[in-house]
Amino acid sequence: MYVDVAVDFSDKDRLRRYTYSVPSNLSVVPGDLLWVPFGYRPIQAIALSVSDSTETENVRPIDSVVPDGPFISEHLLRVAEWIADYYRTNIFRACVAMLPPGANRQLHIWVSKNPDAQEPVVLLSGSSDPTERASVLAELPPNRRVRRDRLVRKIGRPRERYLNALVRDGVVIEESIWNRPGANAIFKSHIVLVDDGQSVAEIVADYTKRHTHRRSELIHHLAAANEPVPRAELSRIFGPHIVKAVIDDGNVKIERVRVDRDPLADYSVQDTIIHDLTPEQQSAVESISQSIQSDSADEQNRKFLLFGVTGSGKTEVYLRAAERCIEVGRRAIVMVPEIAMTPQTLQRFASRFPGQIALQHSGLTLGQRFDQWHRIKNGDYKVVIGSRSSIFAPVDDLGLVVIDEEHEWTFKQSDRAPRYHARDVAERLCRESGATLILGSATPELVTYRRSSAVVNGHGIGRLTLSQRINQAVPVKDATDAASNSGAGFAAAKIVDMRLELYDAHREMLSRPLLDALRDNVDGGGKSILFINRRGSASFVQCMSCGTIRSCPNCQTPLTLHRNPRRGASNRLLCHYCSYSVGVERGCRECGGNGIARRATGTEGVEEAVRKFFPETPVLRWDSDTARNAAEHTKLLDEFQDKGNHILIGTQMVAKGLDIPAVSLVGVVSADIGLAIPSFRSVERTFQLLAQVTGRAGRADTPGLAIIQTFQPEHYAIVAAARQDYEQFYAIEIEKRRQYSLPPFAHYVRLMYSASENDDSQMEARSVRRRIEEYLQTNPKISVEVAGPSPAYPARLKGRYRWQLLLKGVNPPQVLDWVPLGRGWTVDVDPIEMI
Ligand code: ADP
Ligand code: ZN
Repeated sequence: MYVDVAVDFSDKDRLRRYTYSVPSNLSVVPGDLLWVPFGYRPIQAIALSVSDSTETENVRPIDSVVPDGPFISEHLLRVAEWIADYYRTNIFRACVAMLPPGANRQLHIWVSKNPDAQEPVVLLSGSSDPTERASVLAELPPNRRVRRDRLVRKIGRPRERYLNALVRDGVVIEESIWNRPGANAIFKSHIVLVDDGQSVAEIVADYTKRHTHRRSELIHHLAAANEPVPRAELSRIFGPHIVKAVIDDGNVKIERVRVDRDPLADYSVQDTIIHDLTPEQQSAVESISQSIQSDSADEQNRKFLLFGVTGSGKTEVYLRAAERCIEVGRRAIVMVPEIAMTPQTLQRFASRFPGQIALQHSGLTLGQRFDQWHRIKNGDYKVVIGSRSSIFAPVDDLGLVVIDEEHEWTFKQSDRAPRYHARDVAERLCRESGATLILGSATPELVTYRRSSAVVNGHGIGRLTLSQRINQAVPVKDATDAASNSGAGFAAAKIVDMRLELYDAHREMLSRPLLDALRDNVDGGGKSILFINRRGSASFVQCMSCGTIRSCPNCQTPLTLHRNPRRGASNRLLCHYCSYSVGVERGCRECGGNGIARRATGTEGVEEAVRKFFPETPVLRWDSDTARNAAEHTKLLDEFQDKGNHILIGTQMVAKGLDIPAVSLVGVVSADIGLAIPSFRSVERTFQLLAQVTGRAGRADTPGLAIIQTFQPEHYAIVAAARQDYEQFYAIEIEKRRQYSLPPFAHYVRLMYSASENDDSQMEARSVRRRIEEYLQTNPKISVEVAGPSPAYPARLKGRYRWQLLLKGVNPPQVLDWVPLGRGWTVDVDPIEMI
């Protein structure tokens, strides 16, 4: 037998399979994890396919098969191949997230001083660069090895050659060592009675004869428990020597019981409430059920956008869909942007399907993830809830995938390969496995909504709309205050023109209308949230008369202000996409008014402003400084919910699906900051955030008020968000994207190079750009544009300087087939983080 495998070798030959033979004493199926010889060391490999013959010559046999496999289903293997191809990584990398947590072991090269080498001084004196070599050697501790890649990062890649020379001359030793396995099953010893026909009474009688009363008691204890008892527990009660004696007597035996580290072990489930569906929910559930129940439904009819405003009952639709899926004997994956942010979703699923819910997300310990993985694989759960990586959970018989808040950025993995988008992976997996896909959102990503409006490239999505909030669709029975349910069940939203505030010489961060509303709300005992967009920490230039933010003439993205540290030198505005740059001018090009440089304020600034006007009111600040983990989030949220008239100041975190009841006022401190973020997505993102935060006001039966402060009160994103009018926003934004050939009408690929020296980084980026241009010149049919190099944002991260190139076109990754990138480069296809 022969097996084709993927190994973690190189992204250049990323789709390459290697063939090995399987010795007759071993058996391999696709999805198995193997050890194979590669070069002159063993490495891990994933079996992709097996066959009886091969045309490859000189095949070597595999070393071993990791037990308990196969770990990856055929469906997921196909998905992995697609991920490797589309996101430009190798198949093995794409498979790693599908393996049991901790299964992927990496080989690291370690270096240390050779204790047997001659005195370095003597050795180095004859070499060509004695001082450089000596300085590299000085970085090595005397009697300890360090990881080579860490050392190289420390000394800088240009000095790596001195390290190489030291290795060559035997002054430094290199060793390859596999890291230890990350996670394992854990077992506990339990004690049970031996079933050999002897009754408890007989054993006890025997012990009584021997006057060994403690042993009799132990036997009684076990008989009463009627199930295996942990050995540790028996030792505590009877003492370890008695336990050992009874084992030695042959009356009891040890059983190893696997311990399940269950993240939901102490989770208290509330009673479930099953509502009668509203007509809109009913029809959505019917369409989805049809798709789940029918085998023949072709792929087109198995994808849905559940387009429903906040509080319109989407979660109830997911629950019904999951029920249907379970009824037909299949399982479901439900993805949420962040578990910590959406405790109610978990609560509602856990109460509807008690004991049937698995969790998969990065907040769990490795051990918990390991145990959950194996229990999912074992088929112990009907529904897996998790963050983006849960799409790789080993769910057989997959019938349904739900992605809640599908527009959220957390579904794209940006920080490491494979840089996949869970939504696209989910679509692929659903196609392979015949599962139904539901994408839910009040503010779907443009590309999703477009596909639900028309079939694009043969890929359509059915749209199911929930247009009404539940509190409007289901009238409150004893509604004394009927007026609160008027309108579409939304808060009233008010846009405040900050230009008028300036005009009236009110130079405060909080406008007069917002201050008035806050005062009313605080006096009335209501809770308020002030929202500040923190992502925009870059400075930008905005005209205070007309509100225009200076943007790039080539690509429409807002320009970022770079202050020149040299005195007297002028500041510049820079485009992070195409490196367009221009000096800062005084006047505004639109209206002749004065441009003013602005820097986004943080939550601290807002807090200061609030305390100035409301010294008596309790103020809570919610950002990554004050709430670092789930526990701290919950604590802050509890505090806010508990007592009276708090003012909560928060970043976009507060916008993410938090169900905070009775918030009667939401203030957006500056809608402009989001619009100034140098990304083609800044407008879309601003709309989404504004629509969501204003949706925070008046969730329960409180009517609520939302106030949006801006220098651009006419901006379509702001106007549409205030009216919760997605279609209006979509109609304008999609035309702009078309006009400037921006996604979804084109794809971006972001190439980033990082190095410890700024010049090295920039030079390498320049040379790759030149190579790409040469290639494009000789292949005029390929329509790809290349921009950059421009500094990534932030330009320096963890001591490394980062420069980037952007490719844009219909199929930009194809360029990389011809212009391969060396080490130090990362490739991000369809990047979310553009700057
Ligand atoms: P979404 O997920 O769209 O934000 P939810 O599913 O959280 O909305 O629903 C909002 C609230 O309405 C929840 O408290 C939910 O229990 C309730 N709800 C959902 N469907 C119904 C219904 N058909 N009748 C009454 N209440 C409902
Ligand atoms: Zn530009």
